[in-house]
Amino acid sequence: MGRLTAVILALWSVAAGPVRAPPAAVSFHLGALELTALRDSGYVSPNDGGDFGSDVGPQAVGEVLAAAGASQDAISLSVDALLVRMPGHVVLLDTGFGPDAEGALAASLRMADVSPLEVTDVLITHSHPDHIGGLLDADGKSAFPRATIWLSQREWTSMRSRGWASKLAAAIAPQVKAFEPGRQILPGITPVALYGHTPGHVGYEIVSGAANIEDIGDIAHSSIVSLAKPAWRGWIDEDPKAAAATRSAELKRLAATHELIFAPHFPFPGVGWIVARGDGYAWKPDTDLR
Ligand SMILES: [Zn+2]
Repeated sequence: MGRLTAVILALWSVAAGPVRAPPAAVSFHLGALELTALRDSGYVSPNDGGDFGSDVGPQAVGEVLAAAGASQDAISLSVDALLVRMPGHVVLLDTGFGPDAEGALAASLRMADVSPLEVTDVLITHSHPDHIGGLLDADGKSAFPRATIWLSQREWTSMRSRGWASKLAAAIAPQVKAFEPGRQILPGITPVALYGHTPGHVGYEIVSGAANIEDIGDIAHSSIVSLAKPAWRGWIDEDPKAAAATRSAELKRLAATHELIFAPHFPFPGVGWIVARGDGYAWKPDTDLR
């Protein structure tokens, strides 16, 4: 290998951005509901003291990664969405990067035997490209034309102020229903205010009978770093201080209640539990789903 090739490969290995992933759909039951984790893509963030541990530096982040047996060079995330099927509603939570980053969500939906026209409701956690990109199809038209698109009032205001999202916001505006978190919006589904990552970021609590699961959105990105050191800050969050406080409080609650969660950026299918470990937490995936 030439020196230049080696340099390019070294740079490539830690380049930030979306990574293509094969489509995948993993279904499970929650009470009377059928849920399906859907793969869209991956995302790589270099360990450079930016996205993660901006207050502690790459060496401290690297030590946490190494202790978990992961590469110290970069933090690798999955990018996934969640489907909920119930009588009268086919609900999609987040939409991945979409066609701009060659996201696999549309193909994963097909694997779950769902047509975009069947989706009645799209629930958005927040307006970042890896969650709203799939709201448009490759032609720039609404990808779920018959769906109501739900997001918090604060997030809708924030989204419309994002220059890069203006075309998307205009395309979906007729379908949008903005809500105040804390009240049920669909049978058994209640948005929960978890602000900090973005101004109007929410999670979604899904209940069926005695069973429940929370889609935590982006309160935690890395199943390693975000859980081991929830108080560490990073520029992956728009308000790092508020996001760290929200993450710390919600992880504490989830570990205490042993509530099942779906985490869009944890290793696919991203379903499992938060458990206390040391002065932080660890990820316990639901291995029955694999
Ligand atoms: Zn995200």
